[in-house]
Amino acid sequence: MSHDEGVIKFKMEYREAPALDAAALRELNAWRRILVLLEMIGQTPERYAGYGFGNISCRLLPWSAPAEQRRFVITGTQTGHVANLAPEHFVVVTACHPVQNLTVAEGPIQPSSESMTHGAVYALDSRIRWVMHGHSPEIWRNAARLGIPTTRAAVPYGTPEMSAEVARLYNESDLRTRRLFAMGGHEDGVVSFGRTAEQAGQVLLAALANSLYV
Ligand SMILES: [Zn+2]
Repeated sequence: MSHDEGVIKFKMEYREAPALDAAALRELNAWRRILVLLEMIGQTPERYAGYGFGNISCRLLPWSAPAEQRRFVITGTQTGHVANLAPEHFVVVTACHPVQNLTVAEGPIQPSSESMTHGAVYALDSRIRWVMHGHSPEIWRNAARLGIPTTRAAVPYGTPEMSAEVARLYNESDLRTRRLFAMGGHEDGVVSFGRTAEQAGQVLLAALANSLYV
């Protein structure tokens, strides 16, 4: 079993802080709900040994922040089983330092174990505002047929190597325009991104449709 979503590999500086305002989380929650309905985010005994899977995030101001200090809101760790999230299920990542494998976060809950992967995507381009990480057996198994850029299977998620691998794909493949990659070493794992939630979400939906073509 290659999947170990619940195992936290990264180092974290976490500080408890009040929840964000619910109004600021509505769009995140709406798109997360869609991914839950598609079973790309969730938690069930039948999949991945019962660990929660998938997560969604969006950037916070200031847009001009340096690559390792691009703040974003992300779902908290092991919230996959909750259908509709409340403000206390979200946390702000204030910095990601891939070389030290260090994530800095503040909020009412610890961040998802894949925050570093989200941070690696935001570090690619300050115009990227949304990242969606879903688990889709359909897209993942058809990634090669669909020409979806894929991280090398030997690169574990949530590590400095994954950050470097994402940057490599961004520079060497059509990831920049495709806005979707598969995680070769992370069963069913796919990541989309965009300037808006619609852009990131539609990339996932279109890939799912394409993967269902027979
Ligand atoms: Zn995952």
